[in-house]
Amino acid sequence: MKFIDLNAQYEALKGEIDEEIKKVLTSCDFILGHRVQEFEEKLANYVGRKYAITCSDGTAALQLAYMAYGIGIGDAVFCPDMTFIASIEPACLLGATPVFCDINDKSYNIDIESLERQIKNVQKEGKLKPKAIVAVDFVGNPADYDRIEQIAQKYNLLLIEDAAQSMGASYKGKKCGSLGDVSTTSFFPSKPLGAYGDGGAIFTDDDRIADKLKSLRVHGKGEDKYHNIAIGINSRLDEIQAAILLVKLGHLDEEIEIRQDIANYYKENLSDEYIIPYIEEYSISSFAQYVIKSKVGENREDIAKRLKEKGIPTIMYYPEPMHNLPVFKSVNLYGESLANAYDYSREHIAIPFSAYLNKEDQNLIVEFLKK
Ligand SMILES: *Cc1c(COP(=O)(O)O)cnc(C)c1O
Repeated sequence: MKFIDLNAQYEALKGEIDEEIKKVLTSCDFILGHRVQEFEEKLANYVGRKYAITCSDGTAALQLAYMAYGIGIGDAVFCPDMTFIASIEPACLLGATPVFCDINDKSYNIDIESLERQIKNVQKEGKLKPKAIVAVDFVGNPADYDRIEQIAQKYNLLLIEDAAQSMGASYKGKKCGSLGDVSTTSFFPSKPLGAYGDGGAIFTDDDRIADKLKSLRVHGKGEDKYHNIAIGINSRLDEIQAAILLVKLGHLDEEIEIRQDIANYYKENLSDEYIIPYIEEYSISSFAQYVIKSKVGENREDIAKRLKEKGIPTIMYYPEPMHNLPVFKSVNLYGESLANAYDYSREHIAIPFSAYLNKEDQNLIVEFLKK
């Protein structure tokens, strides 16, 4: 059994994907060509933003977003303590300082009270300028944007949505990728909308920011490529990935529906013995990962071992909160305990999940998880 069955998806979409890749090879138009443009238009339309600007990967998407808003030295960027390092790493690279906030113990997304405490702590200390919040739709579950936006407005902060795990998900009828001031995503193969290599995108409704992003992703180009107006980076999506993503985008909504069915099946069968993902009734999760925790205190290493013996893979997602990573050991925590993020990192385990997980495998997983 596979943790995320990319083979099964390829088998299902092979006819379309192979044909589209062949067309790219015949056209010999490889970088930022008409397929990238078509994909950007369809993707923007899909999430409900004016612009989708593609780039080389999800980390670069975040870097470009931070760069477009001029985040840098002396700026504090508020980030949930439970995420992938790429949410905050590009801000650090630009000289900004990460400020970690605890997660909510139900949604596993950034905790609003902890966020506001940290903003006040930074203000009180007076060394850094509170500048941005990066909210993460953790494991595909949208963060609480109504409340985060209130905080962002109250303290005049930029709100970035890291939607790397939440393509196809939605919050109060709005698609992930359309929340906050600017959103970013990743097309890493195992993400809900995955390419066959690296890829990413930034979403915005702001004409000026869109222009900046289009320049920054091609070395700060101006009117043309050799008339540079800013220090940028090289971060482009290629035509083969765009061709694959165009096919997969066409199937995303039906996959998201199947993901809901599988999640419901897990819920029905596992919720007596496990704490299962909590999704608000106004949200739809993409279930980029399906994470569980034993209710009776069985530790996750034992669960992993028990499943491995039956050929069922699991992963620790993620095994460390940000504040515990060696690279961040000198980051000021302002006395926040970050206990929910820590507990989450020690107790949760992700079980196989994808739109192509067949009923037989679902049954096996449920059977061996139930004692
Ligand atoms: C995957 C991921 C990224 C980075 O995407 P890449 O395409 O791997 O660079 C950023 N943030 C989160 C939350 C992610 O899961």
